[in-house]
Amino acid sequence: MIRYFSTNEQAPPVGLREALWRGQAPDRGLYLPEHFPQLDRPTRAWMREASYPEIAARVLQPYVAGLLREEELLQICREAYDFPVPLEPVRGQSRVFILRLDRGPTASFKDFAARWMARVLGRLVQQEGRPLTILTATSGDTGSAVASAFHGVPGIRVVVLFPRGEVSDRQRRQMTTLGGNIHAVAIEGKFDDCQAMVKQAFADPGLQSLQLSSANSINIGRLLPQMVYYFYAASRVADVDEPVLLVVPSGNFGNMMGAVIARRMGLPVHRLLVPVNGNDEFPRYLATGRYEKVEPSRACLSNAMNVGHPSNLARLVAVYGGRMGETGRVHREPDWARLRRELWSISVSDEETRAAIRAAWSEHGLLLEPHGAVAWHGYQQYRQEEPFGDLPALVLETAHPAKFPEEIERLLGFRPEAPASLAGLDQRPESYDRLPPRYEVFRDYLRALPAP
Ligand SMILES: *Cc1c(COP(=O)(O)O)cnc(C)c1O
Repeated sequence: MIRYFSTNEQAPPVGLREALWRGQAPDRGLYLPEHFPQLDRPTRAWMREASYPEIAARVLQPYVAGLLREEELLQICREAYDFPVPLEPVRGQSRVFILRLDRGPTASFKDFAARWMARVLGRLVQQEGRPLTILTATSGDTGSAVASAFHGVPGIRVVVLFPRGEVSDRQRRQMTTLGGNIHAVAIEGKFDDCQAMVKQAFADPGLQSLQLSSANSINIGRLLPQMVYYFYAASRVADVDEPVLLVVPSGNFGNMMGAVIARRMGLPVHRLLVPVNGNDEFPRYLATGRYEKVEPSRACLSNAMNVGHPSNLARLVAVYGGRMGETGRVHREPDWARLRRELWSISVSDEETRAAIRAAWSEHGLLLEPHGAVAWHGYQQYRQEEPFGDLPALVLETAHPAKFPEEIERLLGFRPEAPASLAGLDQRPESYDRLPPRYEVFRDYLRALPAP
């Protein structure tokens, strides 16, 4: 059975149940599997004919062994992944595909993780018979994906903190129109304030009776399902042993970590490109080896990536043999040669993002929103700098363009059609609370919440 260790190396390793339940390790580190099971060639060849839920169950099975039976896991994957996962070939470019991860109920890639995790945690709560409070900070899409995935799950209540001025109307409405066991809280501050308050709550012994857990990319349960679509997509566009180029627009680096782990499990990856927006701490770190957060984080067009100090960086450093504390201090250097060989990053400005949306549309008839456009720009830049022959490239589109109707209309002159899941949102009544970015106020708020 796989155990999960803390990136801070001060807390003992635990099983998946405890890692899921806690979210963050008691030493404030993040959990990571102690080893990565290998998916051998025959298994990867099998994937070419398998469905998305079948691939998901196969990839995730070793991680949940002991917690869920195989049929149970397959059932969960079938329920969670009941929407399409399109791979759109890019017109005029050979073997370049947009992997559209935006067809879930909240139209962002976060549905993949949130829907799986809600079902797994729902089962744990039933098994253990004690209620759970999910606490999560969001810069846009985590909150809505988590809220939608957990809405109505018995025994679980969700508290989601979002920066009041930094989420779009639609993003906010996706969190504030559910009600029931979903409590949305607007913080008068930035995403980093929200994340800091959530972290402090987890470390607060005075809140232990609440059974707090996270559904951020802090939680290993959010990370594991994010490996699956890399295997799935590669099985559709590449030969079994053929490496793919992966392009993952990144903020808190949970999505990227899915790719890093998939590669360690045996997925052939030529290189992993991780374009970011104006929050450029990662490309600078990769270039200089010196880590400096962006503080406060910068408000960019691709708002779900406005992260100045990504929590998952500690995980990346750990996978490459180093140790980074939760404040960003490096206690042991990672294997820089390997890190730089396998990863590449670039900071993409808002101006470049807008230009990429225009160019993708006019040159390829490709409709992208700001997050996918950051990836597209990064991909174009990389192709010029480092030719990679005819290997297939997978560029991730992480949100549906209809989530950014004003921006798309300004740039392209039309409004993208909203998928059924987003339509009607504007008519539903909203309800949410507002708090200042002060931990003491938030703690009192949590203590006063009604039982789930
Ligand atoms: C969350 C999010 C990202 C960034 O993902 P990370 O795992 O935080 O790097 C990118 N695009 C969209 C649309 C998102 O919602």
